[in-house]
Order: sequence, then C-alpha cells, then structure tokens
Amino acid sequence: MNHLNIQNFLTKNVSTLDGVGNKTKKLLKKKKIEKIKDLLWNFPQGYTDRSNLVTLDRLEIGKISTIKVKVIKYNFPRIRNLPNRVICEDLKGKIDIVFFNSREGYIRKILPINSLVIISGKINFFKKKYQITNPAYIVPVEKEEYVNKIIPKYPLTEGLTEKVYRKLIEQVLKKVTNLEEWHDKNVLKKIGNVSWVESVNYIHEGNDNKINSKYFRRLAYDEILSNLLVLSQVRRRIKRLKKEKKIFYNIISNKIVENLNFYFTSDQKKVISEINNDLKSHYKMFRILQGDVGSGKTVVAFTAAANVIESDYQVVMMAPTEILAKQHYILAKKLFSSTNVNIGFLSGKTKSDEKKEILEKLLNGKINFLIGTHALFQKKTIFKNLGLSIIDEQHKFGVHQRIELANKGGKNCDILLMSATPIPRTLIMAVYGDMDVSRLIEKPINRKEVITLSKPEEKINEIILFIKKKIYEGNQIFWVCPLIEESKILDYSAAVNKYNFLSNNFKNKVGLIHGGLDKNERDKVLNNFLKKKIDILVSTTIIEVGIDFPNANVIVIENSNKFGLSQLHQLRGRIGRGSKQGTCILLFKKNLSENAKKRIKILKSSNDGFLIAEEDMKLRGFGDVLGYQQSGIKNFKLADPVHHEDLFSIANINIKNIENDENNFKKYDLLMKLFDKADVISEII
Ligand code: ADP
Ligand code: MG
Repeated sequence: MNHLNIQNFLTKNVSTLDGVGNKTKKLLKKKKIEKIKDLLWNFPQGYTDRSNLVTLDRLEIGKISTIKVKVIKYNFPRIRNLPNRVICEDLKGKIDIVFFNSREGYIRKILPINSLVIISGKINFFKKKYQITNPAYIVPVEKEEYVNKIIPKYPLTEGLTEKVYRKLIEQVLKKVTNLEEWHDKNVLKKIGNVSWVESVNYIHEGNDNKINSKYFRRLAYDEILSNLLVLSQVRRRIKRLKKEKKIFYNIISNKIVENLNFYFTSDQKKVISEINNDLKSHYKMFRILQGDVGSGKTVVAFTAAANVIESDYQVVMMAPTEILAKQHYILAKKLFSSTNVNIGFLSGKTKSDEKKEILEKLLNGKINFLIGTHALFQKKTIFKNLGLSIIDEQHKFGVHQRIELANKGGKNCDILLMSATPIPRTLIMAVYGDMDVSRLIEKPINRKEVITLSKPEEKINEIILFIKKKIYEGNQIFWVCPLIEESKILDYSAAVNKYNFLSNNFKNKVGLIHGGLDKNERDKVLNNFLKKKIDILVSTTIIEVGIDFPNANVIVIENSNKFGLSQLHQLRGRIGRGSKQGTCILLFKKNLSENAKKRIKILKSSNDGFLIAEEDMKLRGFGDVLGYQQSGIKNFKLADPVHHEDLFSIANINIKNIENDENNFKKYDLLMKLFDKADVISEII
C-alpha cells in the first residue's frame, strides 16, 4: 500500500478488520479503540515468555509454559458447572486441559483426537494431576512458531483475549509497511533515527516496551509534536482575527496605582507592558498570565481592565467561586474609588430584580466593569461593547474550552487567562502553545518567606501552645486534614474529630468546612473566617484557591505526606499574604519514608512554585501533580514529561521552524490523524 492508502486504512473503523464482529467491536470500544490506528496505541504492558517448550515431566506448578502434546481422550460431563476436560500426553507424561464455558463442538474442533498440538498456559495441579485451565493458546503443531516465543501482554478488557488482539495487531502491522517520513532528517537523527513503521513493529513484536528505547521515543516524539502542531494551528488562526485597536494613555490605570500601598515588581511591570501592547494591537489578545500563588496577578488584571475601560470598552472578570469573585469585587471597588468607573457584581446568587437591573446597565453601557463567577459566561449576559474578558484561576480549561472563549465576547474582545498552576518551562508550549504566555516569577519584595516546619503528630500539644500564642497576637489559623479519597465518611470524620478536639481548646472560635457542605454553608463559614468571627478554620477540601485571608498566618497540614509537593506549596500560599511572618507546620506520622523526607526538605528550602513543580514531577511522575490532570498534559498517551523532557525541548524548537510556512503543515496530515488532532483544527472558525 502507498502512503495515502495506509492513511485511509489506519483511520477506518476496526470493524473493517477480519475477526471483528459486533461483540469484539463493543469490547474494543470499552478500551477506547474505535479506529484501526487506536489498536496500535494500546501498547503491551509487558511480555509473556512462552518460549522454551517443556516436556510433561518437567512442568512447574504456577509457571506459564508451552507444551507439545497429542490429544488422547475427551471427558465431557453432562452435569452443569463441571468443566470439560481433554486428556493429552507426550512421551514423558499426561496432562488435563480444562475448559470452563467452552462448548463441546468448539473443543472438538481445536483439539481433534490424535492430533499434535501446541498449548500454552499456566500449569496447575489438581487432584494429583497437572492441568491447564482455559489455555491462552492452542494451535496445530505447524504453527508452533506463533506461540513458542515471547508474546506481548496487552491491557485488555474481560471477554477480549490476547489471542484475538494479537490477530488484529498482526493484520495492521502487515499492511503498514512503507510510509513516507514526516520528520526532517536532522530532527529524525536527534530522536533516534528510526521510522514510524519500525517503531510500531518493535513495540508490538519486539519484546520491549521500555519508555526510553529509541522506538518508544520516536513515537512519543510524534505525539508531542502532533500536540504542538494543533496548538500552533489554533494560535495561527486566532492571530488572524482582527479587532479594533484599543487607545488609552494609562489615565485610569495610573489612578489605581496611586491607590496601591506598594510598588509593582519588575515582573509585574513587564507583564503589564506585554498586555498593553496586545491591547493596542490590531490582533486579538489571547494570553495566559502564569504566576505562582501570591505573585500579584489580580492588580495586573485590574490595570489591564482600567486601560480597556479608558478605551471605552467594557470588561468582564470571572472567578471560579462566589467568595473569590466577591473579594475581587471589593478590591476593585477600593482601587477604582478615585475614578468614575462603574463596577457591577453578578453571580448565581444575585437576586432576580437586582440581576435584571445589572443586565440592563450592561446593555446600555452604564456598567464598565462586571465581576462575577464563571456562571456569567453561560448566562445570557449581553454587553454593549465588551473589550476584555479576564478569567481567573483557569486551570480547569482545556484547548476546546479556550477556543470557545476566544470566539465568545465578540470581535473586539481580548482574552486574558490567569493561572496559579506552575508548569515546568519545557511543558509550557505543550500546554499553552495556542496562547501567548506571560509569567510572574518574582514575588513582591515586602513579602516575608513563610517559615516551613515539620513536626511529628505526637507533638500536637506544642503546636496548640504555639497557635494560642499566634491567635493572641491577632493571627488566624488554617488547619487542613487530607482528603481520604476512598471514603467520604472517613474523610469527614477525621475532620470532625479534629474540629471537636480544637473546639475543646478554643471555645466557639473554630469553624469547619468539608466536602459534604453545600456551597452556601461553605461560603458562610469562609465568611465568618474572613470577618474574624472564628480563629481557626478546619478543612478537608483544599481551601478555596486564590482567596486572600490577610490575617491567616499559620497553616497546619496534617498527614502532610498525603499531599503532593505542589499541593503543599499551594496550601502554603494561602498564608503569608500580608506583611506578617507566616508559618506552615507540616504534621506527619512517625516513620517517614526517604521520599517523604526529601519532599519536606525541598519544601523547606524553596518557595519557588516553578522549581517545586519540577521537583514534584520528578518525584512522582507528572500525572499526579496538582492541576496537570485538568490542564491537558495528562492527555498524552505515550509521552512522559519526566522521561522525555529532551523530546519536549526538541519539539519546542522544531515547531518554530515548521510554523514559518503554512505549507509545512501538510506533511503532518497522517501524524495529526494518528493522534486525533485533525478534528480539533477543523472546529476552529
Ligand atoms: P495571586 O497572584 O495569587 O492572585 P494576588 O493578586 O491575590 O496574588 O496578590 C496577593 C497579595 O499580594 C495581595 O494582597 C496583593 O495586594 C499583594 N501584592 C500584589 N502585588 C504586590 C507588590 N508588587 N508588592 C506588594 N504586594 C503586592
Ligand atoms: Mg489570584
């Protein structure tokens, strides 16, 4: 077959292969295998050694073995639940082949009396006899080579056997022979110089699925590049969207700056000017502002809002929770107080007549700046002339949602996303390649670094004393109990126990939030904490990302090794937001593992979210790091940012060369289809 035929073949439905009826099709679908190429991405999870044929006097119980035997006798009991048996022998002994749930006719067909067969399966011993139950392979002796070797073991689903799956893979590999290479020679050299065809053959037939073999790496690189290609295409198309330039002279934003009791960091200044350039350009801004917790993203966003409003457009800012939105609103009211900017607040909780009034004011342009929850977007909120959408803490958005965002808001609407999930540099393109990225790395200077301590749980009395002192000095305390994922009830009771314990020590001054509370109840407790009606907040769930509790200067994290490094860092970021000294106390049970000790050490020694994210990724694999799941990098089938970091770097450089010429993209047609990227692109305007 030529390249194009192979391309067509690979993207056909699996049901076009021999041996795929409705039943197998359904089973494959369970494994998310629908097109022929999907079969190839289901890599072997290991290999079974079925080589080394043994004679029946040398069987070992429990071992997967392959035997060459003659079929002697059937034993088909007519009693329900008793298995069918076939007695076989070689020159050295006898063995029973046992079948549960197989019909007599089928058994007679695959094991004809007196025939010589190859059987492979696990050896059992039952009532003083060797037996193999439901063998994985039974083939006539001529096909010995098919079984007597090392065979891939696939992650499959019940009802789908390895034998059937292997047959399918074989059909595919036979047809896929000579593809045109899509990578340039110099790139190919860097990633191991093996072709796609060689690589898939090797993985499925070559007894090696090691993540660092050149074959695996070639395919992982393909996946990484396909991902960058799609993001790059999205970006190119968004960049083509023209808009009216915004015109402003920083008149309003300067008034905000006058209201601040601090100076911008140089990173903040840099980012503000990047944003201003975008606003003033003819092209739609599609930018993500990445900054660690507490790096000061909010004021940057307000500055942008001020400039857009000065340019006679409206601005909307969305936060993931009511309380966070409210906090932004209150801060905006304060910072814009010396301007005549009209600010509105809208959330799911806004009363209906109030909402009606706000919507009216939006439509006639009387509100310049609307702040609220993400729900704003779903509702029919119509603006007179929206010029900027700001979305705070967006780590839950994938590419599809971002494309949707870019299209919403109308022709002249710029987009600014903000995220507090630090992502290692090599991965930024893979995650945000469709956007322009601004990063706030530097922290405000007046900030005292949070002191991080670790303590064994037995010393809780010392901690209580410490807390009493801190409360006496006017501070508030977070007390975090880890989520116990297996059980909501356990989770709840651990927190309740702690709540009761602390309530005994600190009367009426302790609040509790946990997963079982509804949003209203939770907001009520959080508000009590904000208003200092309570001193200690016990929580199971992670305390609302992004809320500023200026008086909370101590955080106690129980069973802290249950959390990932990045999570601990984010939790720690909840405190020390004012100018007072913050303390983070990591409680642990006795007997910390080496790994846990290492993690605590990293956390104690660094306050840099980006560095911590990188270390976290190395220690735990990237999949577990907070926020990555939602961010889309978890969607890689093969590529692994820890093992393939260099491949990401190579792809980052390569994509820039490819981008230079639209014609370059054509070469990668098949690659895009192999990784289901083609559909994403066709969705864009
Ligand atoms: P995040 O980036 O996590 O959203 P915020 O915008 O909430 O951070 O800022 C955290 C705190 O730091 C706020 O109280 C804010 O007023 C303050 N802040 C922001 N920028 C500076 C700065 N340059 N100097 C001092 N404090 C700052
Ligand atoms: Mg924030």
